[in-house]
Amino acid sequence: MTDRKPILIAGAGIASLLLAQSLRLSGIPYRVFERDASFVFRAQGYRLRLSSEGLNAIQAVLDPETWQRFWDTCGKTGGLGFASFNAVTGEQIEHHLVPPALVSRQGGGKTIGISRSDMRKIFAQGCEDNIEWGKHGMGYEVTEDGVQAIFADGTRSVEGPLLVGGEGIYSKVSKQLSEGKLKVYDTGARGTHGQTPSASFKGLGEGVFRLLDDTRPEGSVFVITNVRPEEMDDPSVSFGWTMGGHPGVIRAPNDDYTIVGRTAADIAKSLTQKWHPRFRPLFEDMNESETAFWKITCSTPSGVPDWPNQPRVTVIGDSVHSMTPAGGIGANTVVRDSALIGRLLREAGGYKAESQPPTTTTNNTVDTTARRGNCTL
Ligand SMILES: Cc1cc2nc3c(=O)[nH]c(=O)nc-3n(C[C@H](O)[C@H](O)[C@H](O)COP(=O)(O)OP(=O)(O)OC[C@H]3O[C@@H](n4cnc5c(N)ncnc54)[C@H](O)[C@@H]3O)c2cc1C
Repeated sequence: MTDRKPILIAGAGIASLLLAQSLRLSGIPYRVFERDASFVFRAQGYRLRLSSEGLNAIQAVLDPETWQRFWDTCGKTGGLGFASFNAVTGEQIEHHLVPPALVSRQGGGKTIGISRSDMRKIFAQGCEDNIEWGKHGMGYEVTEDGVQAIFADGTRSVEGPLLVGGEGIYSKVSKQLSEGKLKVYDTGARGTHGQTPSASFKGLGEGVFRLLDDTRPEGSVFVITNVRPEEMDDPSVSFGWTMGGHPGVIRAPNDDYTIVGRTAADIAKSLTQKWHPRFRPLFEDMNESETAFWKITCSTPSGVPDWPNQPRVTVIGDSVHSMTPAGGIGANTVVRDSALIGRLLREAGGYKAESQPPTTTTNNTVDTTARRGNCTL
């Protein structure tokens, strides 16, 4: 029998919100619980490059109108394609081309990208009334007829038939469900990301750029940025950039990587002081308040572990498979999770406690996630 209590979704990141959108369109009740106070609670506007696989998953979920809005919001960058430069000398470096998987379909060989905040807002459209903010999840309890999420303030969610943990790399749901087997490893590498008015990118021209500085003995620093043609001359637009470095190169004061704003901006500025004049405006003119640190983490490199099946709880996205930024596939993989679980729930007409687990293949992360989490759809 189909359970009409709401599916509970922990976290309101891109995986969770795309799943919420999928459930909304299928007429399946759901509630989302996000720890932050709002969408704009902290700087999180970095840009995500989308592969054909990621775009296909998103299109499979959204209705045609919303998909069109999403596609129109995506930047389509051509120009030099993915060009690597020596950040200090300004010379172009060979052999650092964009992986073919990230030169997307439809875009005529262009790179498709969107800011994470725009992506979240589009996925959330129509779901707003079902998102509860300021709900810091600490875990869950399986009840006689369902499951409840438990929050840091001591409150609990309503009872739902299924809890989907989508709270990203520090997921409490993943930890509890897998009995600690799902781990996130700190690679030691750190980064910052920020925003700068588009005029400061004029020296680069259109394209996706990787700027590499390997002059430091402690390790290299790189920046990836995307200069989109249609917005290049609009002074109200800022472009994002993402900086990463080998362990030890980028250090937050007192190892506090939650710091945002001036402190993070100053570190990015000092690391780029000797960079070529073509690239320096990106950092000299940045909007300091938008700068934030990020830690480069990775799930168990040997793959997703097994854990005892709990039919009322499963996990999606970075909660179950955090990846380093090396392949640019984190977001592209999480949207596939959401599309898969949303489709399985739709096909089943909602959560059914007594039906069989889905038949899935075992050789890709999305299917493995659903199989291991084993929600009986
Ligand atoms: C700088 C940077 C650049 C990136 N670039 C790319 C790229 O180009 N292409 C690509 O494919 N991927 C990229 N990624 C990876 C991509 O951003 C992630 O894989 C993706 O955002 C993961 O989505 P998610 O929904 O699983 O988790 P998240 O987006 O992390 O969302 C998790 C949500 O859960 C909330 N939350 C956390 N803890 C709790 C809790 N206890 N209770 C309730 N809510 C909680 C968080 O506030 C957040 O809203 C990049 C990542 C970074 C940091």
